[in-house]
This record gives sequence, C-alpha cells and structure tokens, in this order.
Amino acid sequence: MIYLDNAATTPVWDDVAEVIYNSLREDFGNPSALYNLGFQTQKKLDEARSSVAKAFGCSADRLFFTGCGTEGNNIAILGGARARKAWGKKVIVTGYEHPSVALTVDSLADEGFNIIKIDPGTDGKVDPDDILEAVDSGTVLVAMMRVNNETGSMLDVSSIAGLIHKKNKRTAVHCDNVQGFMKHSLDLNNIDTVSVSAHKIHGPKGIGALYIRKGFNLISPSHGGGQEHGYRSGTENVPYALGFAEAVKKAGNISKNLEKAAELNGYLRNRLSGCHEVIINSPSDASPYILNISVPGYRSETMLHFLEMHDIYVSSGSACSKGERSYTLTAMKLPDNVIDSALRISFSYDSKLSDVEAFADALTEGIKILVNTSKR
Ligand code: PLP
Repeated sequence: MIYLDNAATTPVWDDVAEVIYNSLREDFGNPSALYNLGFQTQKKLDEARSSVAKAFGCSADRLFFTGCGTEGNNIAILGGARARKAWGKKVIVTGYEHPSVALTVDSLADEGFNIIKIDPGTDGKVDPDDILEAVDSGTVLVAMMRVNNETGSMLDVSSIAGLIHKKNKRTAVHCDNVQGFMKHSLDLNNIDTVSVSAHKIHGPKGIGALYIRKGFNLISPSHGGGQEHGYRSGTENVPYALGFAEAVKKAGNISKNLEKAAELNGYLRNRLSGCHEVIINSPSDASPYILNISVPGYRSETMLHFLEMHDIYVSSGSACSKGERSYTLTAMKLPDNVIDSALRISFSYDSKLSDVEAFADALTEGIKILVNTSKR
C-alpha cells in the first residue's frame, strides 16, 4: 500500500502502540486517586506532559491534554472570546480554517459576536496585512492556522501575533497548529493558545494538547471534575498521553524531516510540471508536507478510485468534509472544475521517494486513460 494521505491521519508507530498497550494494562489507576496507584499514574502523566511541552517550547504547567485537536480549538476559541465579551465583540478568523475553528467561530455569532473572515487570494495565501487591518480596539480574538490542511499554505503566526498585540494588547490570538506541530517551528511568543493533535504525527487518534499562555484569561466551556487545571474536565487518558509523548520523541528532528519532505515535494512538483493537464493549487512556499493539485475536467472521485485500484491512497481535500467541496479552494475562489478535480497528496516522516514515484506514474497513466476515454 502507498499511503499519501498523512494530513488526514497517520499510521500509529509500533513503538507508540506498544507504549499504549502496556500503559492500558498497567496504568489503570485514576491519576486523581489519593493512594499510590493513583500517584504512580499521575507521575507518568506528568512525564508525558513534560515531553510534549518540551516539543511545544513551553513549560509543563502551560500544556493541557485534550480529547483531540477539535476540542482544543473549541476550548481556546469559545473560552477566549467569552472571557473578553465585556469589552469587545469582534472575532477575526482566516477564511480557510478547519471546520473545528470555522464552525466554532461561526457559533459565536449566536452570542452576539461579530465575525470577520479574511479569505486567501487565488494564490492560496492569506495576506497578513488584511488580518492586521481588521484588528481594532473591539477585537477580542483572532484565530489563524499555522499550516492549512488542504493546500499547506502557511502563516507566520508568531510575527502576525506580535503585530496584532501592538494594535490591541488585549486581543486573544489562537493558533490551530494541528498540521504544523513537529513539522514546522512555532515561536510561542505573543500567541495565547495553540492546539495540536497526536494522530497527525503517528500517535493515536483521540488525544490532543492545548497550550495556554500563563496569565491568559480563558473561561473553559468544559465543566466537570476539574482535571487539566479545569480547562478540560474528564478522567485523563494516560495511555494515550504516553503514546503521544512517545510519538513526539520518535518524530525526531524538525529540520531534518522538513528537508526530506521538501525533497519529495520538489520531486513531485517537478514531475507534474511536465504534465500539462495538472495544475498546482498549493502556493510555491507552502509546507512541503502537503501538495494540492487539480486535473480540471476529471472529477476527484474518478481519479481517487483509479489510484485506489493501484493501492495508492490520497484524498480530494480535508478528511473532515467527506463528499463536500473543498472549503479552502472555495475560499480561494478557484473555478468549479478546479475545485471538483482537486487531489491532496500529503507526506509523513516515513514517506519514501519510491512512493511518490509510484503515485506520479499512476497519476499520469490515469490522466492518459481519462483523456483518451473522453475523446472517444
Ligand atoms: N485542525 C486541522 C488543521 C486539522 O487538519 C484537523 C484534522 O484534520 C483538526 C484541526 C482536527 O483535529 P482532530 O482530528 O484531532 O480533532
């Protein structure tokens, strides 16, 4: 199998699965329990927290485990905006956010917030000046992603956050870093909250983490036993936290991995440049882990099924919008035939050049067949 849909999810590494399995059997004590079994489990949870926090570049007391990236986005956005409701109503968000950000922000409209969307251009890039221009004294929150999950388009969130705070130091800045974590660096300076998810880096599905800046005012929408400092109530998933920490440890060096991804991406772009039926939707300076292309006139599903027959797996866009049109390409205002024929190829640390070669071969063969069939 050639799996090139790593932006949707990644296979769990064997070492990670083993850590989880062992922990499921051994660490059944509730971390909140007041006896040794509980203390031991709490200790392991603390160690996992420290490992993930180190990768974030923050202290362990600012890192909170969540049920997933989606939950982290909900807590940060709802909690950040509601805590500032007394003095402002404006919430700014890029127009190409994942639904866990876009729909959460939209829901704030029902609470009286005024939502401003900053769309990307046809080049797939959001202009930081457009975000900054929208910030005013009534802006309570700005949400922007580090790496777009459909095109790989990137934002220098740290610098933009610094400039936002120059205009309004009370504005909360949230970053969805689900696609960027352990793939691109992110300086936490000036950013208030950052969400990530373990299953994009060969960890398990169903656990994420949320960074919350020290002193940041957040009214969590999660109510219950007060775990995770009250930000995310619910008995902690210690086995998955340990698995997450193991995945972080195994992911290794960001720049070395990035170099490898750039090589694969460069190879693919080069191969496709010789194929005039293909257009590239990702910006040239996008994250090399994601490449979005279209073969206008030939629907994504047709090509996906052809590739599947060769045991090659890519996607038509975000895994979260099954059957729906790409929200990113729609926000980019690309023509219908480009949106309807989009394919997303995404790499992980384990992707190999031979995988990419096989994909490029199959794609060009698929195009040839489709072109010939449509001529008949
Ligand atoms: N944000 C982005 C950019 C994503 O790509 C995803 C998942 O695809 C999420 C958030 C949601 O993460 P999770 O699946 O852990 O809820």
